[in-house]
Amino acid sequence: MNILVQKFGGSSLSSQEKRLQVANKVLQAVGQDYAVVVVVSAMGREGDPYATDTLISVAKTVSPEMPKREMDMLMSCGEIISAAVMVMTLQSLGLEAVLLTGAQAGIVTNGAFGDARILRVEPESIVAHLKEKRVVVAPGFQGVSENGELTTLGRGGSDTSAAALGVALGAEAIEIFTDVEGIMTADPRMVEDARILPVVSYNDIANLAHQGAKVIHPRAVEIAMQRNVPLRVRSTFSDSPGTLVTNSIPDAAVGADVVGDRVITGIACTPNVTQIQVDLDGGVNTSGVNNKPQICTKIFRGMALADISVDFISVQPERVCYTVRGEWAEKAVEILRNMGFTPRAKQDCAKISLVGGGIADLPGVMATVLGALEECGVVTLQSADSHTTVWVLVEKEQMVAAVQAMHRKFQLGK
Ligand code: ADP
Ligand code: MG
Repeated sequence: MNILVQKFGGSSLSSQEKRLQVANKVLQAVGQDYAVVVVVSAMGREGDPYATDTLISVAKTVSPEMPKREMDMLMSCGEIISAAVMVMTLQSLGLEAVLLTGAQAGIVTNGAFGDARILRVEPESIVAHLKEKRVVVAPGFQGVSENGELTTLGRGGSDTSAAALGVALGAEAIEIFTDVEGIMTADPRMVEDARILPVVSYNDIANLAHQGAKVIHPRAVEIAMQRNVPLRVRSTFSDSPGTLVTNSIPDAAVGADVVGDRVITGIACTPNVTQIQVDLDGGVNTSGVNNKPQICTKIFRGMALADISVDFISVQPERVCYTVRGEWAEKAVEILRNMGFTPRAKQDCAKISLVGGGIADLPGVMATVLGALEECGVVTLQSADSHTTVWVLVEKEQMVAAVQAMHRKFQLGK
């Protein structure tokens, strides 16, 4: 039995016309003798009646403080509605299909409501249905904890569901269908001439996804990578092959623009971060600790205790500088003030990441990046690099211009 997992995102499911195109993809796979598992997100985007954000907004009208357990039940409904409608659509075209919820599909998670981790998949039930020649439709984004509680996997969690099922079932491939033609060198909404990447490594894509390219969830890439199950990101609305994520170069692609050859794979960005600076000299430190390493430890321990994750850390003799997600900035500043520091917070920044396995071998990348930004009048607030990534922090207002400038400079376009 050759198994194929096909995941369809919300934008591919927002109308019956689109759902018929989805069904067509499933029909094609069944026609090629695949046993198919379909994973669906909730239908549409915020504002659409059964989209996840719409369901959340219903709860928010009741109270800003929402019980996590019941919130998970509420949020998981969107995918169940979507899966039920998909089963009906497939049946209307003559396919035998069955809905299995996350629990029925054997997706076992830890108990962290709202952000659960998949611990294992018990695939027996799915396999039994596949053997009976049924298409299994599973709502993504949900699972069940070991004590029987319904859990959700966090935003973008349907990608993770699909990857976990693909690995557990020994699928030939995991296909992520979406509203763009594949993974591109930058978000096509930001960069008009962004180019589709035909073949990319798991590492590059996991890195891009971690840095904010929301086309696929980083966990999904990491799970698929563990067992080398190929991932394909492609459009629901065309027949183009999209992007293959793999570590082995297919014969057909040798000599082309492939894994390993490329210096820079793409650009991703994270808007809405706040830069925090704490001066360690000049009398502003009244925290009572005068040993600098101890001061740094105190600052970062304070953040960790409050569950605030920090990024883009730069420690210098006279200053500690780091970023936090915008929504945590106020709390971070308050903690620092309570410790006796006088922090400065710069809101509305964006972190831009230039990602590529070949960066290490390319001298002068940082100079080129900073030069490109300067040429177009973008102010660099902070920068850093590693062998696979160059990061710059800019004002959010200049984010798009900065991404476009770097895309041009490194000739990533069509
Ligand atoms: P879905 O509903 O199918 O899960 P998402 O909105 O999660 O869709 O992901 C698709 C979107 O990701 C695209 O519409 C695109 O704007 C955005 N995106 C961001 N970065 C990239 C990139 N590097 N390549 C392709 N799409 C990207
Ligand atoms: Mg998505």
